[in-house]
Amino acid sequence: MRVRFWGVRGSIACPGPATMRYGGNTPCIEVRCGERVLIFDAGTGLRSLGIELLKDKKIRDVDIFITHCHLDHVSGLPFFAPFFREDYRVRVWAGNLMPSNSIEHVMRKLMSSPWFPVPIEIFKAKIEFRDFKSGDVLRPHDEITLRTGLLDHPDSTNGYRLEHGGRTFALLCDTEGFPGKRDTEMVSLARQADLAVYDATFTEGEMTSKGGWGHSTWMRGVRMANEAKVKHLCLFHHDPSHDDDFMDKLAAEANDVRAGTITAREGQIIDL
Ligand SMILES: [Zn+2]
Ligand SMILES: [Zn+2]
Repeated sequence: MRVRFWGVRGSIACPGPATMRYGGNTPCIEVRCGERVLIFDAGTGLRSLGIELLKDKKIRDVDIFITHCHLDHVSGLPFFAPFFREDYRVRVWAGNLMPSNSIEHVMRKLMSSPWFPVPIEIFKAKIEFRDFKSGDVLRPHDEITLRTGLLDHPDSTNGYRLEHGGRTFALLCDTEGFPGKRDTEMVSLARQADLAVYDATFTEGEMTSKGGWGHSTWMRGVRMANEAKVKHLCLFHHDPSHDDDFMDKLAAEANDVRAGTITAREGQIIDL
């Protein structure tokens, strides 16, 4: 299993000289399971991933798993190059939108006036929309299992646990992580994962004024990772106001408390 980060920033893209090293694009993670390509979230990082995918002629089939439909997690969708290719098949998965909504409806709305100049019909790929609810077990391919669970965030974010070839990757973002039932669910999604990617948007100090916003801290991530016996914790969804120097300090502090903690950078590749 190979994990590659194409966007690690939360809330809004923030490219510029102060974020060069950690990156300014919003969430997009590529996970390769052998020949299979699984994409988690479709933030602005999705654009570069799409361009890269087209260079590999063996790949013509991908799955995109959305955690939730806040703009920082879906705004890359209209710019995903494989959507414009007739020979491509893309399945887009999202949880907890039914019955009043669906991922197809969300994407149609995103690509409609006055927000976007062309409708979804501009795409040439075969696109399939797969709605599910948190708690469902997804099997996009025979050799791949995805367990899902509800996280603590406005608009019902879904957490993922991906299992393939004896390796486990967990994505727990966006979430605040109050103690209680949902934390138990999160810990079970992360249980003994080789890599658990966690929402570490805020510091503990920032949480005093930003509690209830649906985001967490690296300290809560460490507690979760210890409880779930995660191998590597990976901090993700960095606040746009945290520049590279700030992120270096945060990364060092977290690593002091839990050795081996990774602070995600755009472009980073992790082999599991
Ligand atoms: Zn977000
Ligand atoms: Zn969100």
